[in-house]
Amino acid sequence: MTRFASRRKKLRALIRKTGVDALLVTNFTNVTYLTGFTGDDSYLLVTARDEVLVSDQRYTIQLEEECPGLDLKIRGPGDGMLKTVVGVLRSAKVRRLGVEAASMSVELYGQLDKHLAKIELAGTSGLVEQLRIIKDSDEIQRIRLAAEQARRAFEVIRASLTPDQTELEISAEIENQLRRFGAKGCSFPPIVAVGPRAALPHANPSGRRIGESDFVLIDWGSNEGLYVSDLTRVVVTGKISSKLRRVYGVVLKAQVAAIRAIKPGVTAAQVDRVARRIIAKAGFGKRFGHGLGHGIGLEVHEAPRLGAGQATVLKPGMVVTVEPGVYFPGWGGVRIEDDVLITRDGHEVLTSVPKEFEDCLAG
Ligand code: ZN
Ligand code: ZN
Repeated sequence: MTRFASRRKKLRALIRKTGVDALLVTNFTNVTYLTGFTGDDSYLLVTARDEVLVSDQRYTIQLEEECPGLDLKIRGPGDGMLKTVVGVLRSAKVRRLGVEAASMSVELYGQLDKHLAKIELAGTSGLVEQLRIIKDSDEIQRIRLAAEQARRAFEVIRASLTPDQTELEISAEIENQLRRFGAKGCSFPPIVAVGPRAALPHANPSGRRIGESDFVLIDWGSNEGLYVSDLTRVVVTGKISSKLRRVYGVVLKAQVAAIRAIKPGVTAAQVDRVARRIIAKAGFGKRFGHGLGHGIGLEVHEAPRLGAGQATVLKPGMVVTVEPGVYFPGWGGVRIEDDVLITRDGHEVLTSVPKEFEDCLAG
């Protein structure tokens, strides 16, 4: 059985448990996860016995390459998606159809409801996501590759920083370097934030130049083709202030302690608390205004979240970021982010960019 077939088999068990006859998968990332097909505009119907991918003629060759053997319903140029899906559902003899509440539009829901009087629609949530949260060996291998590409690109960037470079130029150069190292591209538009701009956890790169401050925060990741990495490092490009050294030391201590706490059986909230306590003890509690981390995989933000109130129990195969941050408006911010795999006996840090303060000096 291919890894995709085995994922669909697991999904069938969840479909049965939910009390529906079939699930119409409309989230394209979930379709990719279940089939290997990387195009969009395609839905997958998974019934108790089989499955069919509804796609269109632009993808015929790609489908043969990416998911040979999968049952396809290819719609012609004149056939709308709705009409085709309605036809497929009628001939599949589905009576109670699960739909993905988080991705199906209200419009499509209304149209299906109108055209399929005999089929009862039932909103479901997180069925495929429940499977995606635990990565198999192939997925872990791909995340490792994305982490390695990110490291190599960063090394080139760090060694070549000059005072006249702008945040925008560095951001473009990260994308360029990632592709040179075999990546499909960035996993998200990189954050390159010089000095005070680093106080914005989600700063958009601007025309500000490296030489305008003493440090720069870079938050970047690679997409190796399907799976992503997500890292943050601070690079000291000017004078080392005692404030920067102190804040960096606190954030690093919190990050290392949180990573050390990661193992199967602990909750996402417990790991968050480890970092938050250390930062609060240093007097920066109010300066750490976001969750500790998030899952990564096919998407750069997926389950589980590490944060206060998150009851998810960590299990082997989950991959999460650990990224505490401390921010001061007008001064800047420090965040340190790595990607961590939960293993049977603890954890493994998948990212390997050095992060001691001395490692952060430019050049
Ligand atoms: Zn990040
Ligand atoms: Zn992140």
